[in-house]
Amino acid sequence: MNIVIVDSSSVGLKILSSMLEYQGHKTHVFTDGQEAFDFIRSNLDVNLLLTGLELKSMSGFELCWDVQLLCQRGRQIYIIAMSSNHDERKLIETLDSGAEDFITKPPKEQELLARLRVAQRMQSMQKEVIKLASLDSLTGILNRRAFFDHCELHCQNAKNGEALTAIMFDIDHFKRVNDVYGHDIGDKALTCVVNTVQSEFGLFARMGGEEFALLLPRIAKDKALDIAEQLRIGVEKLRIDAPKKSLKITCSYGVSEWQKGDTIESLLKRADLALYMAKESGRNQACFGEHNIQMAVPERSKKRVEICYLS
Ligand code: GH3
Ligand code: MG
Ligand code: MG
Repeated sequence: MNIVIVDSSSVGLKILSSMLEYQGHKTHVFTDGQEAFDFIRSNLDVNLLLTGLELKSMSGFELCWDVQLLCQRGRQIYIIAMSSNHDERKLIETLDSGAEDFITKPPKEQELLARLRVAQRMQSMQKEVIKLASLDSLTGILNRRAFFDHCELHCQNAKNGEALTAIMFDIDHFKRVNDVYGHDIGDKALTCVVNTVQSEFGLFARMGGEEFALLLPRIAKDKALDIAEQLRIGVEKLRIDAPKKSLKITCSYGVSEWQKGDTIESLLKRADLALYMAKESGRNQACFGEHNIQMAVPERSKKRVEICYLS
């Protein structure tokens, strides 16, 4: 594991560090709580904190608390507190501050190693649970909830001036596909559509049913429209194996670009309205959702990429 050890005793730190390094763990030692926290915050691969309660510049309780706040924002850091004090109140306070476990100081080697094994088991279970909760079980891409969780950083960058665009798309007449070919072929079509989207484009999620979203960081309107067109052609070319004859499908696309004052919801809303326009205009095409302009009926372009104006 990648372990940060914090304690007021430099000698104690040295002993613990060499014991854990000998067992194959990577360690970083600190006597100062604030320095330890800064290190943990900026080193995303730290996955365990072993801390005493009396530290320089902040208490062990405060450190546990701050690290547990990082965990609420997506980090996975298992916290073990150490104390020579057997005070029951202190133990309760430590666990309430965010520590998962508690060990008496100085830790006995075999006991500490056993507790680290528990930490590893807990973290691999946690990873599995997060995976199950974030991925769509049919297609393996992000689900709606995970998509919104992952958008935050990109929206923050967009607020600081970075380009950001979104594409919402939806399979055309998918109900018919299910009705004519059966639900299993419908499922196959969903997977085939997902496979046409290259993962390097950006954040890709199944928003529900046969509707998908792509968030494209550092990509502006024109490139986003090109990508939508590329996707449109890719899906149109698909031939999905079905018992009697192979099946062809198309999708409609709505594209929007981040504007000052946007939120992820308003960005997706414009993409969704543009998608609606693409459906209304005959499907198998992409529309762009312009900001703050009266809604107008789009004109068909040769390239089948429409610009429509949405209020
Ligand atoms: P439109 O072109 O307007 O989008 O028409 P549509 O038929 O695609 O839209 P509608 O909303 O009427 O139907 C969506 C269908 O998608 C209905 C639903 O049974 C199907 N569907 C949703 N999720 C799944 C799924 O996981 N597997 C399969 N096979 N079908 C699904
Ligand atoms: Mg549909
Ligand atoms: Mg739909």
